[in-house]
Amino acid sequence: MEGDWYNDKNEVLGEVLLDAATIRMRVQELGALITKDYRGKNPHLIGILKGASVFHADLVRAIDLVVSVDFIAVGSYGTSTKSSGEVRILKDLDESVEGKDVLLVEDILDTGLTLSYLLQILESRGPRSLKVVALLNKPSRRIIEVPAEYIGFEIPDHFVVGYGLDFNQRYRNLPDITVLKVDPGES
Ligand code: IMP
Repeated sequence: MEGDWYNDKNEVLGEVLLDAATIRMRVQELGALITKDYRGKNPHLIGILKGASVFHADLVRAIDLVVSVDFIAVGSYGTSTKSSGEVRILKDLDESVEGKDVLLVEDILDTGLTLSYLLQILESRGPRSLKVVALLNKPSRRIIEVPAEYIGFEIPDHFVVGYGLDFNQRYRNLPDITVLKVDPGES
């Protein structure tokens, strides 16, 4: 690969799990499914910043309905590869979700802690419906069961970057979803 992706000698990009073409095809399929399921409605797509921003941008363009969008930013108290389970809102929604058909758009469903917390908060604000779209699912890591109606891909328990997903804010602009190997012992 060309370019300066290796900002840290202890991070190595491994195998490409999902290349850009495969992701594009699946996002189109998800968009078509949502278009069919929400016919006659105007879904409100809430992207969870920052990881879901790339997926959200592609997904809204794959939906052939009048949609509205909003964003929420959350952070977890923990390290970059391990979340502590505590989630806090860093940037709240701009608009009310009351009476709306909300689709919460997430990059990856891992332990489930982030989505389960957000679903509780949003549910209490009175949307007409509330469903989850997650591009990736790592079922083997689940701590809390989360209902996710739309899933792009199930992946094994690897730490992945690209297509919006980061490690220490890097690699979000990689077009493929790629395994990142981090060696914490050599720094
Ligand atoms: P959960 O609360 O454990 O389900 O974690 C969800 C969040 O953790 C995601 O929105 C990501 O920001 C982050 N995350 C989990 N696994 C990965 C990964 O493999 N690569 C990058 N970020 C991840």
